[in-house]
Amino acid sequence: MLAALPRKQYKSLLSGLESVALTFGEVLYEPGERIRHVYFPGDSLVSLLTLVDGHLALEVGMVGREGMVGVPVFLGTDVSPVRALVQGAGAAVRMKAARFSKEIRKSPQLQQEVNRYTGVLMAQITQTAACNRFHVVEARLARWLLMTRDRLRSDEFRLTHEFLGHMLGVRRVGVTKAARALQRRKLIGYSRGKIRILDRRGLERAACSCYELVKDMYDGIRD
Ligand SMILES: [Zn+2]
Repeated sequence: MLAALPRKQYKSLLSGLESVALTFGEVLYEPGERIRHVYFPGDSLVSLLTLVDGHLALEVGMVGREGMVGVPVFLGTDVSPVRALVQGAGAAVRMKAARFSKEIRKSPQLQQEVNRYTGVLMAQITQTAACNRFHVVEARLARWLLMTRDRLRSDEFRLTHEFLGHMLGVRRVGVTKAARALQRRKLIGYSRGKIRILDRRGLERAACSCYELVKDMYDGIRD
């Protein structure tokens, strides 16, 4: 996301940015907690999860290199409504929330970038809410795998069925059934906690319409 900024703008941000290595399963924010840093993932991937009754988690958004984690800071509050969980280990840069607020006031370009990003993130969250209610697990799983692939830019990634259950808000057996169905159709392979996408086009056909819809919105802000 920061790479889209004019060079001069980016340079002025550099002194406030700190490189960090995010690890799989690391929690960046919990709901109701203060946001200390905003994060810009590089080759890492962060899930935004909503908690229900304190223990049931459901993914409502996914943030990779195209965006930032900590949008509430941009909107003027420093409390997170969601859990931000690292689902793909890798590099990111982060900035202290207070510094980020200052930079936003100074730079109309940065403000515009984050504005556009916030718009599509809201659309993604809205679409995900409807998707979770109306689309079947197999199509949602295909969508989720494609979204992960696009952000990690890799056809292979680490995953457990238990983790996927949390992401999709279904029981583990439901995930296993859906994953087996995609395997039978030779769209994905699964072994030793790693998923491999074997046929991306086929997986796109198996995914619900939410995948294309949200992808087009993200592509739109980069035009
Ligand atoms: Zn859907």
